[in-house]
Amino acid sequence: MSLRIVVTVKYVPDATGDRHFADDLTVDRDDVDGLLSELDEYAVEQALQISENSDDDVEITVLTVGPEDAKDALRKALSMGADKAIHVEDDDLHGTDAIGTSLVLAKAIEKAGYDLVISGMASTDGVMGVVPALLAERLGVPQVTLLSEVSVEDGTVTGRRDGDAASEQLQASLPAVVSVTDQSGEARYPSFKGIMAAKKKPVQSWDLSDLDLEAEEVGLEGAYTVVESAAERPARTAGTIVKDEGEGGKQLAEFLASQKFI
Ligand SMILES: Cc1cc2nc3c(=O)[nH]c(=O)nc-3n(C[C@H](O)[C@H](O)[C@H](O)COP(=O)(O)OP(=O)(O)OC[C@H]3O[C@@H](n4cnc5c(N)ncnc54)[C@H](O)[C@@H]3O)c2cc1C
Repeated sequence: MSLRIVVTVKYVPDATGDRHFADDLTVDRDDVDGLLSELDEYAVEQALQISENSDDDVEITVLTVGPEDAKDALRKALSMGADKAIHVEDDDLHGTDAIGTSLVLAKAIEKAGYDLVISGMASTDGVMGVVPALLAERLGVPQVTLLSEVSVEDGTVTGRRDGDAASEQLQASLPAVVSVTDQSGEARYPSFKGIMAAKKKPVQSWDLSDLDLEAEEVGLEGAYTVVESAAERPARTAGTIVKDEGEGGKQLAEFLASQKFI
């Protein structure tokens, strides 16, 4: 038996750097450093663990929809241990929203072939947490989302979803889409051997025509959501310093009361 896992991984702007909107109110991705979304590292880790615990032949493909630099995210996932990568890149993708992204991902997943799709719980830039559900709907397969534990046996994926009051044990027959949380298990660091091996692993590039998609179906034109305005967050103002000359406690209390903290 063989098991084909596709892990969706997103290349996101580095949250520690300066981030901007471009003139058309899309996220400026040209002048910012990016990296593999940290939450997708958990998805890659779970795919690797499923592979390590399986008697089946498991093939792990990592898939991204993103600009040229998104290859860095694929390389990182390959150096963690994934087998191959697919990069969907096309100038007409500029401005694609979550619904469009799910369309492109679904087309690519269908073309690649799959038994199980593993996604992160959310990206660290858009943070919508909707793509896995949109994907399952488009692919017409069950979704088992927000899992903190996942395993595959005999054509069935099983997982645990932890809520505030209870934990649920969930199951779906393959093919299926799952998403995993940051509680699913620490993601491994790529080893030196892994980094070297990744350089030789295949990275396939597809554009919209490879996926039988038209430009109008994606991009700003095809987007269902519109960003109408965006403003930079005001710079932090200096804090209030209370100097204690005998009345410090009273002044603190007055300050807290004025801010309605007490
Ligand atoms: C070049 C480019 C320009 C874009 N411009 C815009 C824009 O102007 N406005 C806009 O709303 N959106 C834009 N997007 C899409 C946006 O960045 C998100 O991918 C999309 O809106 C999904 O939202 P999210 O990241 O919050 O997804 P979530 O639902 O939070 O993501 C959950 C999981 O889905 C998977 N996933 C999500 N996105 C991708 C991806 N691109 N590739 C692989 N896996 C993914 C990951 O596993 C992720 O952990 C653009 C994308 C690209 C590539």
